[in-house]
Amino acid sequence: MIEIYPEINKSENQCPRCGTLGRSNGKLYFQGTHCLSNQVCSDCSLEFYSTLPIGHASLFPVAFSLDGQYHQFNREEGSWMAEPLINSFQNPPIKEVPIQLLQPSSGGDLLLINCLDSCFGHVFTKIWNVYLLKKQFPTKTLAVLLPERCRWLISDKEVEIWSVALPLEELGKGVHGLDLWVKQQFKRFHSVALSVVPVHIDQEQLDFSQILQVSPFELEEFDRLPLQLTFIWRSDRFWLNSRGLDLLHKASIKYNFQNWVEDILQHRQGSLLRRLVKRVRKSFPNVAFYVTGIGRDGKLPHGCHDERVEKMQESVERRWNEIYRGSHLVIGVHGSHMMIPTALAAGFIEILPRHKIDHLTEDIAQSYNSRLSHFLGRFVDEFSSPDLVAEHVVSMVKGFGKVYQNLQI
Ligand SMILES: [Zn+2]
Repeated sequence: MIEIYPEINKSENQCPRCGTLGRSNGKLYFQGTHCLSNQVCSDCSLEFYSTLPIGHASLFPVAFSLDGQYHQFNREEGSWMAEPLINSFQNPPIKEVPIQLLQPSSGGDLLLINCLDSCFGHVFTKIWNVYLLKKQFPTKTLAVLLPERCRWLISDKEVEIWSVALPLEELGKGVHGLDLWVKQQFKRFHSVALSVVPVHIDQEQLDFSQILQVSPFELEEFDRLPLQLTFIWRSDRFWLNSRGLDLLHKASIKYNFQNWVEDILQHRQGSLLRRLVKRVRKSFPNVAFYVTGIGRDGKLPHGCHDERVEKMQESVERRWNEIYRGSHLVIGVHGSHMMIPTALAAGFIEILPRHKIDHLTEDIAQSYNSRLSHFLGRFVDEFSSPDLVAEHVVSMVKGFGKVYQNLQI
């Protein structure tokens, strides 16, 4: 925890121009995803910002001058986080953003958990802290700063919600007016501390049925329920199983011509899915196959339940959750869209792009602590064929009963 009100716990930061180590002057700035400490170098007089060690900034600290000319960060691993932050000061957002206070408390000692982020997976894992901190600090008042789209993930009526009405993809650019709004809220409290919001929490400590407000798939029912499989579709990341198309996809991102190739890639993904469904139906003719995800382009196999949408809203999240908790397996390409499905379904098959190998498990919320975690959690290479994926499906469905029974003995 970092105490910030009424007194600030001052931090030591290094000037990004001359390297002098100095103490912050105590001024904070709430940028959006990040909380920054403002200071002036005692040696070269450069005014700069440093990230407070909160969320991913505790792993990849950033210091930068206000004009962006001088900066210090881990270029190899931290650029994805540092560059949008620095850019948010060069092109500050100007649009007014509605910020809402929901479930206001009567004051007391506040612990603020900042869950703002442009990536859904990051927001979701940051929110896990709310549930753990509630147990750890029962006498404190908790407030969670989050994107409006994710506020359904707070089921606890005693937690204040500070809801920012910006789409996730806009959040990385900073939030106009947030700093002032947040500081006004502090006046209602005796004291305010910031949670350091760890982002790699052991999910075994969590109760997903509390967070998602539905129970996960009941394993006892695995062999009794009619077989249901769900593929999670993305329109910006594809299962292609083709080195040529993979190269085309990467080039389209690098040279910004995604719109020209999108149809080809969607068509390819749809055709792989058709082959997968056909192959699975050979073993399980009555399988129910669902497809969820954002974007409705791309033809799906005949007889699939197309639950894809163009725009996300709370009612869709809740409908999808019912589908996931009824799914024996969820299948999809690596990404934060896999977190909730893997928390609720019995098992998963993740198609893993090779450049994401280092990030394996970051998007998985399944939490079995036995050999079931291996049996019901499979990672396959991005160049896997529909036949191979189908082979995993058939093996998992047919073999589950035996593995599960052996574990009960
Ligand atoms: Zn300096």
